[in-house]
Amino acid sequence: MAMTETATGDAPLEKIALETYQPPDKPSLIGLSREEISERLGELGVPDKQRKMRVAQLWHWMYVRGARSFEDMTNVSKALREQLESRFTVDRPEVVTEQISNDGTRKWLLRLPGDGKGRAHEVECVYIPETDRGTLCVSSQVGCTLNCSFCHTGTQRLVRNLTAGEIVGQVMVAKDRLNDWIDRETPHGNRLVTNIVMMGMGEPLYNFDPVRDALLIVMDNEGIGLSRRRITLSTSGVVPNIARTGEEIACMLAISLHAVRDELRNELVPLNKKYPLKELLDACRNYPGSSNSRRITFEYVMLKGVNDSMEDAKLLVKLLKGVHAKINLIPFNPWPGSKYECSDWDQIEKFSEYIFNAGYSSPVRTPRGRDILAACGQLKSETEKLSVRERDALRAMAMTD
Ligand code: SAH
Ligand code: SF4
Repeated sequence: MAMTETATGDAPLEKIALETYQPPDKPSLIGLSREEISERLGELGVPDKQRKMRVAQLWHWMYVRGARSFEDMTNVSKALREQLESRFTVDRPEVVTEQISNDGTRKWLLRLPGDGKGRAHEVECVYIPETDRGTLCVSSQVGCTLNCSFCHTGTQRLVRNLTAGEIVGQVMVAKDRLNDWIDRETPHGNRLVTNIVMMGMGEPLYNFDPVRDALLIVMDNEGIGLSRRRITLSTSGVVPNIARTGEEIACMLAISLHAVRDELRNELVPLNKKYPLKELLDACRNYPGSSNSRRITFEYVMLKGVNDSMEDAKLLVKLLKGVHAKINLIPFNPWPGSKYECSDWDQIEKFSEYIFNAGYSSPVRTPRGRDILAACGQLKSETEKLSVRERDALRAMAMTD
């Protein structure tokens, strides 16, 4: 993996061999709710009356200033700082490598504790700068239990859910590496991470509670403070959790549609066998908070000769009737061993034009970071293999609600 000098002037990161992995010996406070932090303070003997104020201080240091140690938290008493230090950290996931694409996209490989001594998991996180925004693509699981036939992540065997701390931790790592925290020199921040998409590795709606808890922290106005309209959760269609997403997170929703007939969608997105198109579209029609100004994005990967005919375009328009929808056409990003090809450019244009004329916004997503395998569906970390039995047990767990 290529190592690159970072724009922030930090030393380039070196890849550390997995065998030397030392899991953290103390838990991090990152990812805990205010109530949980308050409980921890109670365990340290902080009196009830003081706890709210102490939590507010810690929250500010962690999520506004990006403090990396308790020592930096200068308005917290020295005695409490020392106590905190002895029991906890504010550590984020360990960054193993950082790669910078020639288009400015950055990809970080992060290391997380695995099961068993000295074992580690790896997960990826991608930052995509554009003129009017900077989008961070965040992972929700190590690998994915759903094997969509066109997706690299789905071929990865090892799967584990990320904790809320590991999900918020990805945002913190990006802000660390991009120098995007508020401090004396940058009182308004650099505003580099402006949007978040849950479109990295994993199916966020099969890890609902940690994803929800993490996103609520990222939205918190006294912390990172990203608006819910700037956060998009993408799902392959876990129908029972779609309404919950609207009710409990209230962020923007994206659906990985990719096919307009059940027969083909069963093949591309096998979860369709469990939750077919009709149920999926009904859940979208009823998505809490969707409106003309808050549309659901339908992602459609363009696969040559598979789902890109004009007949498909017509059916797509028909299918989305009554849904507040926009369509995002994604040129297929190939990966080693993939069996599909990206549709020809003029076919993508014809497809897009048809949808546009039917009244839908239909931008074609420009592939970013292809040279560092950071584009949609190219993420995959090389971790240990699970036995077939372990993997099947995990998949079975994920498929039962
Ligand atoms: N599991 C969730 C979120 C992660 S995938 C989901 O499926 O929605 C993020 C997006 O990338 C999805 O729309 C997914 O279908 C798309 N994608 C996966 N592999 C791709 C590839 N090789 N080329 C282009 N898009 C891909
Ligand atoms: Fe999982 Fe999404 Fe990839 Fe399907 S497209 S395998 S749901 S990450």
